[in-house]
Amino acid sequence: MTTFRALVVSESPDGTYHLHLAERAIADLSDGDVLIRVHYSSLNYKDALSATGNKGVTRHYPHTPGVDAAGVVESSQSEAFQVGDEVLVTGFDLGMNTAGGFGEYIRVPHSWVIPCPAPLSLFESMAYGTAGLTAALCIHKLQHNGITPDRGSIIVTGATGGVGSLAIALLAKLGYRVLAVTGKPDSRQYLLDLGAADILSRDTVNDTSGKPLLKGQYAGAIDTVGGTILATVLKSLSYGGAVAACGLVNSSELVTTVYPFILRGVSLLGVDSAECDRSLRLELWHKLATEWKLDCLTSLTTEISLSDVPETIQTMLSGRITGRIVVNVGDRSL
Ligand code: NDP
Repeated sequence: MTTFRALVVSESPDGTYHLHLAERAIADLSDGDVLIRVHYSSLNYKDALSATGNKGVTRHYPHTPGVDAAGVVESSQSEAFQVGDEVLVTGFDLGMNTAGGFGEYIRVPHSWVIPCPAPLSLFESMAYGTAGLTAALCIHKLQHNGITPDRGSIIVTGATGGVGSLAIALLAKLGYRVLAVTGKPDSRQYLLDLGAADILSRDTVNDTSGKPLLKGQYAGAIDTVGGTILATVLKSLSYGGAVAACGLVNSSELVTTVYPFILRGVSLLGVDSAECDRSLRLELWHKLATEWKLDCLTSLTTEISLSDVPETIQTMLSGRITGRIVVNVGDRSL
């Protein structure tokens, strides 16, 4: 096999971007000591940004997005991995400026690769993907800041999205009372089934009054959207509360005062899954595969083919995704 199938984003002279299936050469892949035959990838918000020309994510086109990949080692110059090993890669530069998981092969440094954590299948590992690792990191940070289930409710924004859905299900499994914030009124039953105790409309968590503090009613939060919603969450946390902030779907801006921090001792915890330390990454993947393993993982996941990706990206950019999307890269009959 010297060529393979991949989704490629091309930049037109008029500044528009087009996503299309193409044949690519293995010889053209980035440098790296592990070549992986990709079976599954998944769709994350960053892929939608890369696929539509966001230069903060991807500087040079043509390019193959896909920040996640799970598959089998095809060749390895690293002693850490042998031909035939089931492995996964999430984050680092994969799918940003390194050809990503929306192609049948990736080549990466061994330091990006981790063994697929037993007993997860390759499919299940991508049902979690970057979204699952991010949700787990958010929970890890809340736990390490003393936010235990007995402290009170945890609010999760962007609730029906990939990170939001997994965060709700994981928090509920760990015994937290979860309030889900959504812009989709018809998703109530979906969110209750994930384990949410109650559903809040996005509008009710979007305070524009200019008040520096609101009633302190949540012990913690996982925010995937940023902007005034994150600012509202900060001023609605109770004394000693903490918010793990990981996203910007609403806005990358954050306008706040210092009052939540200096009058209520609130903590704003930054979360980045892409460069997350390897030992923590392995620890959290092990938890996702074992004691934190979700029974609902498959039911909240939709499987699509590579050719479905362009349309699904538009759905994601318009905020209409529910749950996780796994991309079946390996099955050419799809
Ligand atoms: P999804 O597209 O799956 O989910 C986003 C959800 O946000 C939507 O389903 C919707 O949920 C809500 N939403 C959409 N538009 C708006 C809006 N304008 N205002 C408020 N809420 C909105 O994305 P992901 O879950 O993959 O990612 C979520 C965010 O987290 C992204 O910004 C992504 O870049 C970031 N992220 C960060 C990571 C990190 O390491 N820091 C890793 C992974 C993701 P609902 O209708 O229920 O409100």
